[in-house]
Amino acid sequence: MPEITSYRTINPKINMEIKEHAVSYENSEDQQSPLVSELWAIRGKCDELTVNKMAENANLPLKWLGKFPGINGDKGINKLKAERNVLLLRNRTSPFIEQFQHPIGRCAKFYKLTAYNSCNFWCEYCYLYLTFRNMPVSTHFVNYEKLFRELIKFDNQNIPERLRILNLGELCDPLALESVTGFAKELITFVAKETKETKLLFLTKSDDIGSLLNLDHGGKSIISFSINTDKIYQQLEHRTASPESRLIAARELQNAGYEVRLRIDPVILYSTWSKDYTALIEKIFAYVRPSRITIGEYRPSKGLASHISSRFPNSSLLKINAALIKEGAKLKYPEKYRLAMFHTIINAIRTRDKRVKIALCKEESKIWKTLNIPMNGLYCNCLR
Ligand code: SF4
Repeated sequence: MPEITSYRTINPKINMEIKEHAVSYENSEDQQSPLVSELWAIRGKCDELTVNKMAENANLPLKWLGKFPGINGDKGINKLKAERNVLLLRNRTSPFIEQFQHPIGRCAKFYKLTAYNSCNFWCEYCYLYLTFRNMPVSTHFVNYEKLFRELIKFDNQNIPERLRILNLGELCDPLALESVTGFAKELITFVAKETKETKLLFLTKSDDIGSLLNLDHGGKSIISFSINTDKIYQQLEHRTASPESRLIAARELQNAGYEVRLRIDPVILYSTWSKDYTALIEKIFAYVRPSRITIGEYRPSKGLASHISSRFPNSSLLKINAALIKEGAKLKYPEKYRLAMFHTIINAIRTRDKRVKIALCKEESKIWKTLNIPMNGLYCNCLR
């Protein structure tokens, strides 16, 4: 691992301010209240029996709508509540399974399975505010028979081994509402019984995993936890499970025979980042032995800032965006900062575990090379 000497102090403009009394929802009523207070469904766009059963099982009120809900005119917390404290249930008409295509080829063409659009957590950096700007209400697709037919077809397709995995975390957190929908339980069981070659990948910040522990999963489902420092969690990842709760959930799943992976993403620079990310690595290995760790920097799309500010007008993220550099449609940390943070985290991982597979998310090959991470084999989060 090369020594990175050019990095001394963080440019104040790029150093995210940590608020002593952060806009933290950690102990507030909003943090403690259920993620979803009401289910919505659109008449004629889903099977009424399925939807009624889901509402009954979840013990939630169900409201029938005549048309799709559009953009709401609210701001701040009220906007978040209008979009993310409800769950819209409807059928998916487009394919559930599609191949991902990175706009500038900085990622493998993995397959994604879209069971939800958007999320019920409130991370300040969430790119889904931009992705679903015209249809911001969190949605779950309930026509599982169509999905199961597509799954069987996918399983029989002739594709390379490392792409035989379906990523459920590209457009949602697939376990955030498991106790409401019971979807993961049904899917994991189906894949274990009915497919030969397919694996599932759940990327999550949830600890709602109780119903998965006693399933006959057949080793075909991988649970990948996205994890960050306590400060990032408190300031930016509202209504998610705490990093410690995620690690406890990871340990329980590992004990139940699931493969567990981790993503440290987004890595964000702030005054005590180096100490905090090193401590995070220590904490990880006190709980779990991940098979892979994938690291990614904070890399917002240029258009995301206005969507953050309409929900979190005082977000510290808004101040650092101006000091990031442009790359295609994204903003990134200048290379020396990226190298410094990846180097620190990789070093801490290697001190604890020499063999765990490490990857970088959507980084240029020269960054992989400088950090001595082999690219052949590509063991990143979204591949088998
Ligand atoms: S958990 Fe992921 S999808 Fe959900 S709000 Fe946070 S960043 Fe967005």
